[in-house]
Amino acid sequence: MLGECHAHVIMDGKNYKEAVSLHKNGVVDKVIHDCFSKYREAGITFIRDGGDSYGVSKRAKEIAPEYGITYLTPIFAIHQKGHYGGIVGCAFENLEEYHRLVKEVKASGGDFIKIMVSGLIDFSQYGVLTEEGVEPELIGKMISIAHEEGMAVMAHCNGARTMEAAAKAGVDSIEHGAYSDEQALLAMVENGVIWTPTVSPVGNLKGGGRFDDAVTEKITEHHMEMIRRFAELGGNIALGSDAGAWRVPHVEGLWTEIEYLKKIVDESHLENTEKLIREKFCAGNVK
Ligand SMILES: [Zn+2]
Repeated sequence: MLGECHAHVIMDGKNYKEAVSLHKNGVVDKVIHDCFSKYREAGITFIRDGGDSYGVSKRAKEIAPEYGITYLTPIFAIHQKGHYGGIVGCAFENLEEYHRLVKEVKASGGDFIKIMVSGLIDFSQYGVLTEEGVEPELIGKMISIAHEEGMAVMAHCNGARTMEAAAKAGVDSIEHGAYSDEQALLAMVENGVIWTPTVSPVGNLKGGGRFDDAVTEKITEHHMEMIRRFAELGGNIALGSDAGAWRVPHVEGLWTEIEYLKKIVDESHLENTEKLIREKFCAGNVK
């Protein structure tokens, strides 16, 4: 059975603010138990989380063995102050602070480092991200500091030039990767970067009534085209749905993601990529 390579146990696929507010006075274990029960019932035994700033993912790491689930977590994500990432993590203003956060992840039992280096897709307009990506030089430094600490790096990263910069700096996986292009895909393949394209958060918007379907379909189409090209180039594609995001419920999100990706690669490809992730995204396993 394939696992989930990009989920957020803290979110419920319905209402982000409500889901998060449950934990404002401390982590509510029941939320984690309910989530893991659902995965266990579906026979899913592998989850890689994207982290959060409320300690939910950290607690989930402790609970996961009760459910026979291998659960990998970055504890929280790390972002540059003033940029996108507050909802999932902690901010840094300079590289010393960044380094301190990397060490904190390690000391808290984190399996890998998650960095936020770009904005989000603006679902209301094709071709638009909510903000500019982090400068390539800083991305490079963030990745090398994490690697020197023996930690693999997962990057929340949209936009071709930011993806290309992260790939050239040796990032281990790129998450989302909206608005890619040939040059970015080549850089990813050349550097052995795993891509978790998380089609579901945009593909599942159709019919939701919140955004214009014509726009979200166009975004999805371009994304699928890029994933197809990446597969042709020999790139490794990971099955991760961004479960917890709006209209991407836990477990069901995985089924929609499989539907999208199976149009491009077969199950054995996804199994192989999961194997690579299981090996690489464990503290100390980075080369
Ligand atoms: Zn995510």
